Amino acid sequence: MTLDAQTPTLDHWIAGSPAAGDSSRTSPVYDPALGEVTKHVRLGSASDVDTAVAAARAAYAEWGRSSIAKRQTVMFAFRELLNARKGELAAILTSEHGKVLSDAAGEVARGLEVVEFACAMPQLTKGSHSLNVSTDVDVYSVKEPLGVVGIISPFNFPAMVPMWFFPIAIATGNTVVLKPSEKDPSVANWLAALLAEAGLPDGVFNVVHGDKEAVDALLEHPDVASISFVGSTPIARYVYEKGTAAGKRVQALGGAKNHMLVLPDADLDLVADAAVNAGFGSAGERCMAISVVLAVDPVGDALVEKVRDRMGKLVTGDGRGDADMGPLITREHRDKVAGYLDVAADDGATVVVDGRGVTPSGGAPDGFWLGPSLVDHVGTTSTVYTDEIFGPVLSIVRVASYAEGLELINGGQYGNGTAIFTNDGGAARRFQADVEVGMVGINVPIPVPVAYHSFGGWKSSLFGDAKAYGPSGVDFFTREKAVTARWLDPATHGGVDLGFPQNS
Ligand code: NAD
Repeated sequence: MTLDAQTPTLDHWIAGSPAAGDSSRTSPVYDPALGEVTKHVRLGSASDVDTAVAAARAAYAEWGRSSIAKRQTVMFAFRELLNARKGELAAILTSEHGKVLSDAAGEVARGLEVVEFACAMPQLTKGSHSLNVSTDVDVYSVKEPLGVVGIISPFNFPAMVPMWFFPIAIATGNTVVLKPSEKDPSVANWLAALLAEAGLPDGVFNVVHGDKEAVDALLEHPDVASISFVGSTPIARYVYEKGTAAGKRVQALGGAKNHMLVLPDADLDLVADAAVNAGFGSAGERCMAISVVLAVDPVGDALVEKVRDRMGKLVTGDGRGDADMGPLITREHRDKVAGYLDVAADDGATVVVDGRGVTPSGGAPDGFWLGPSLVDHVGTTSTVYTDEIFGPVLSIVRVASYAEGLELINGGQYGNGTAIFTNDGGAARRFQADVEVGMVGINVPIPVPVAYHSFGGWKSSLFGDAKAYGPSGVDFFTREKAVTARWLDPATHGGVDLGFPQNS
């Protein structure tokens, strides 16, 4: 796409200011509720990435050695500014992503939690000290920053996902190059400007916009110590393999297909509310969305009725108005998601609610609309079941027993989130132990851990050992150095001894 005079162009953010870089490539950014291009974003080249990494490396020389007190001052100031201006950020987010304002505000709030967690970094990075491990010998371990760290984020949480990582990375003394999604890039620049206002020195936080070219440049750059990636499973696998082959520390969080297992003793009104909230919130574009409800016989028919009733009251429309659910991110994605309704019918499932004819509240007819859709009796060989649809299409699969439901959950390639709904504490406890999924909800449909635990799935939902934020995040952004020290009294010097050191 070439630039035109009518639409603005979003620059990178390098060394404390906007930077055009040297690439002429750009990508259109839409307002999904209007279906209109509102700006273009630059697609950075390898040389733009190199410029940003050089700025981060230069800043690391001081920031990596800065006092804890200085880093905390910036973190607390950032927390205050973000809290005061979170509404502004939510509005930018909605204008490019499409999610409703209350949902955008919720996303910012979950990001703020991580900033608050990072404000406690002095406590979290104290290290450990053992006195007299041998006569007059002490051992202590310290946590040091890695250097320049790369973050690559997806479109669906343009504020929260970068905030899963950069507050912890910065508070532990690293400097950052963020490559946000090119589909909703403005949030990243807004956050960069706010960090600068909070007193963060130039070059500690940089943003390079772009696509595969910029991602590859980050993965290959010798001065980038680590990569934190969040996105779809094929790209997560690629990033993990390429990044680790280049010797980097990599955490790569991938896609999901989250199941909610409903036992016959569950409160079906609670279940129906939870299924609708978790299936259609953010138009299903959440990695923790519930996309499959496993209804254990005989509750299926009653549950489908309750879910259908609630869906009838949902308003789809412009996220700036009174809607419960906004549009999808692009026209291509909307069409792909809608296509699964045809697949469902072809594969013998029942399309109970078809969202393709939805009339949006507000927005424009050209917006990327798809109303909440419900498909019952989905077969487990259909791609409606096996693919991550990432849209407002909720599947109901009928199962005969807890064991059959569990087998389906554990048989899938993903292991991000899951939930069980039951009033039987023993069954819930057994599920917690039996299920091969990284985040488990018990009567909670979207079990996203709070900031002082860590977030991450299993299997193809996370490549690498480190989860996001929480204690795992602190470990990821620091490396431990163990020091063994002896300050000798010359009188006790043992002289030459070629034996392996032993403790005494
Ligand atoms: P995506 O994989 O298309 O893009 C993610 C990032 O990778 C973007 O910055 C994008 O520019 C870049 N990218 C895209 N194609 C690339 C390529 N060929 N080579 C190198 N880089 C490339 O994902 P998305 O559509 O932006 O986000 C939705 C996906 O993210 C879903 O699969 C969702 O489940 C997943 N997600 C996972 C989590 C989690 O915590 N596990 C959280 C949020 C989103």
